[in-house]
Amino acid sequence: MWKEQKKYDCIVVGGGPAGSTFARVAAESGLSVLLLEKDRDIGMPVRCGEAVSDAGLRIFYEPNPRWIASTITRMKLVAPNETVVEFDLNEKGYILDRRIFDYDLAEYATKAGAMIVTKAYVDGLLIEEDKVVGVQGVHIGERFEKRAKIVIGADGVESRVGRWAGLKTTCKLKDMESGIQKTVTGIDVHEHMFEFYLSKHWAPGGYIWVFPKGKNKANIGLGILGSYAKNGKAAHQYLDEFLEWKYPQASVLTTVVGGIPVAKTVKEMVSDGLMLIGDAAHMVNPVTGGGIIPGMRSGLLAAETAVKALNNGGPTKRNLQPYEKAWHKVGGKSHERFYRIKEAIYRFTDDDLNRIADGMSGIPENERSLFKLFSIAVRKKPSLLIDVARVFAGV
Ligand SMILES: Cc1cc2nc3c(=O)[nH]c(=O)nc-3n(C[C@H](O)[C@H](O)[C@H](O)COP(=O)(O)OP(=O)(O)OC[C@H]3O[C@@H](n4cnc5c(N)ncnc54)[C@H](O)[C@@H]3O)c2cc1C
Repeated sequence: MWKEQKKYDCIVVGGGPAGSTFARVAAESGLSVLLLEKDRDIGMPVRCGEAVSDAGLRIFYEPNPRWIASTITRMKLVAPNETVVEFDLNEKGYILDRRIFDYDLAEYATKAGAMIVTKAYVDGLLIEEDKVVGVQGVHIGERFEKRAKIVIGADGVESRVGRWAGLKTTCKLKDMESGIQKTVTGIDVHEHMFEFYLSKHWAPGGYIWVFPKGKNKANIGLGILGSYAKNGKAAHQYLDEFLEWKYPQASVLTTVVGGIPVAKTVKEMVSDGLMLIGDAAHMVNPVTGGGIIPGMRSGLLAAETAVKALNNGGPTKRNLQPYEKAWHKVGGKSHERFYRIKEAIYRFTDDDLNRIADGMSGIPENERSLFKLFSIAVRKKPSLLIDVARVFAGV
């Protein structure tokens, strides 16, 4: 049926959490929506540590036990000198199974009325009189063109949709982490604990994560910044060294690599007939590298604006700009604060990190928290204390 239908209200390029959330909300509001995904499977390959907070997820969906590989209640930090700091988290988190999660989000969108097509690779936009009016691409060897009132660039970190429309989406090299992750089994891990290893030696300009998926399986990965890496040493070399040291008995089930934009969000997220959401608009939290929740949030906000624009004056840049405003109101300010905090903490030397771990060790365990951790971390830069306080107060 999608082959015959030439025109939609919205065409979404990319079937990740951002694209599926947009498609669901827009379809629920009565818009005709076509979502095009280049891969043969929604959500595959999983290029993600799969960690989310319970509170973040609940904004959009009641957590479904099918999605959850582990529930996280505790956190462990390992400093360069191997000082270990542990504490209970104020709110729980999850390690998802994104194969199931992404599938379900896509299914919710189809239940709301959206049409999803996989193996549909979008390779250009249709532009008339400087307005985006559709997309073109290839579906299993056959070329297609589809028209839409609004095209949504939800095409992830390697997004080209924005660039095709003339938006400035290039991420500075200093703000792009190289990520690599292995899902490993045959190891012993605490199934309710996030583990982070912080050191220039283990992961320069980033950190190593161990996210459990049960007692014997985990996503173990890292993000590094090239500018901090030693003589061009690659991310996979750092990870292999860590695994060899910590989990020499691990069997590797999957290896994924991908860029993580720890950047400010793109300045302009809309143009006439076009909106960018999720990683395509650099919405990943610059400190944690988490992009699932911000991606879904942007999908929701963009869909709300799209519905209003289509019912009221059409999808001009001006009518789509409330989405940018809504993003800045809901998450944009804290994103900028996180960016400033990241700029400071990524420069930390191993001595600084040891000092922070010592500071945390001096606090009784039941009084430790992420807020205390960040407060100690930025103590040398008091101006950032305000950012930390506001981020944790959610204002
Ligand atoms: C190693 C690593 C670990 C991570 N760990 C976490 C974590 O623990 N927690 C967290 O919250 N975030 C994490 N992230 C970030 C998170 O994965 C992303 O922020 C999130 O997936 C973004 O969702 P999205 O919908 O914007 O994009 P994506 O999920 O990337 O989806 C984009 C989709 O667009 C499709 N696409 C691209 N181009 C085209 C095209 N031309 N035509 C058609 N389809 C196209 C792609 O195939 C893809 O399916 C991690 C990222 C990496 C790389």
